Amino acid sequence: MKLLSVVVPCYNEQENIADFYNELLKNEPFLKEKDIELEIIYIDDGSSDNTQEEIVRLHEKDARVHLVGFSKNFGKESAMYAGLQKSKGDYVVIMDCDLQDPPSLLPEMIKAVMDEGYDSVATRRVSRKGEPPIRSFFARMFYKLINKISNAEIVDGARDYRLMTRKFVDAVLSMEEYNRFSKGIFGWVGFKNKWIEFENIERRKGETKWSFWKLFVYAIDGITAFSTTPLAMASVFGMLCCLVAFCFIIFIIVRQLTVGDPHGEVGWASMASIILFVGGLQLFFVGVVGQYLSKTYLEVKKRPLYIVKEEL
Ligand code: UDP
Ligand code: MG
Repeated sequence: MKLLSVVVPCYNEQENIADFYNELLKNEPFLKEKDIELEIIYIDDGSSDNTQEEIVRLHEKDARVHLVGFSKNFGKESAMYAGLQKSKGDYVVIMDCDLQDPPSLLPEMIKAVMDEGYDSVATRRVSRKGEPPIRSFFARMFYKLINKISNAEIVDGARDYRLMTRKFVDAVLSMEEYNRFSKGIFGWVGFKNKWIEFENIERRKGETKWSFWKLFVYAIDGITAFSTTPLAMASVFGMLCCLVAFCFIIFIIVRQLTVGDPHGEVGWASMASIILFVGGLQLFFVGVVGQYLSKTYLEVKKRPLYIVKEEL
C-alpha cells in the first residue's frame, strides 16, 4: 500500500474547491487497482472569500481531505512549500485548484514513477491558446533569456503540476531559500525526470491571480534566483566603455598633434550625450546590484516562508 499526497494551493478559489475534488476522485478506480491511498492537502493561501469554509466542508465529509490555512496571502511558492512539508505520501503531486492541471493525466504520471523508474513526472503545455498574445510573447522571451543565462534547465510552458517521489520531495525541501522559484528548483535538483505534454486548458471558474506586473516581478525573481550573469554584465559593459574611451583619447591626442581641432569648442552636444549614456549605464547596473542585494537582505533575515493559522 502506497500513499499519494495531492497538494493544492488555493487563493480565492471558492467555486473550484468541490469541482477539483470531484474531478480528482474520478481517478479512484485506477488508484485502487494500483493499491494507492490518497491524501488531499488544500493550502488556503489567505483567501478572503469562502475557500476555507469549502475545504472544511469537504474535510467533514471525507477525512482524507486536509486544510492548511495561512495567516495571510504568502503566494503560491510558499503554499507549495508548505504542502510539500505537510505531505506524508510516498508520492506527492502538486496541482492547481482551477482544473488547468488536468487530473486525468494522473494515471499516466503514476505509471511513470511506479513502473518506469522515474523520480518525477513534470507537465508542460504545448500551446498557450486562450492567453493574451502579449503575455505569451513576453513569456517566451523570458524563457529564452533565462535559459541562456542560468545553469538550471527551465522549460518553456512548464507547469508546477508535477508528480514526485519522496526522494525528490526531500531534495526540494532541502533547498530552504526564501526567494523560491520552483520552476528552477525542480530543474536544479536533478534526478530522472519525464515530461508529459498537453494542450492549454482555460481556467474553469474565477479569475487568474497573475497580473502582468506580478508576472514581471516573478520573472525578475527567477533570474536573480538562478543566475548571476546580470552582475557579471556590469564588469563587461564597464570594460567596453573604458576601451571606447581609451580609443577616443588616443584619437584626440593624435588629431591635436597633427591637424589640430577644426571645430574648436562646439563639441558639447556629443559630450552631453556621452555623459548621459554612461550615467544611465551606471545607474542601471547599480540597480542590478541593488536587486541582488535586496534578495540577499531578505535571505539573511531568515523569515519563515509562511505562517499557519489553521490546520485540519
Ligand atoms: N495561488 C495561490 N496563491 C497566490 C496565487 C495563486 O495559492 O497568491 C494558486 C491559485 O489558487 C491556483 C494556482 O495558484 O490554484 C495558480 O494560480 P492561477 O490559476 O491564478 O495562475 P495561472 O494558472 O493563471 O498561471
Ligand atoms: Mg490557473
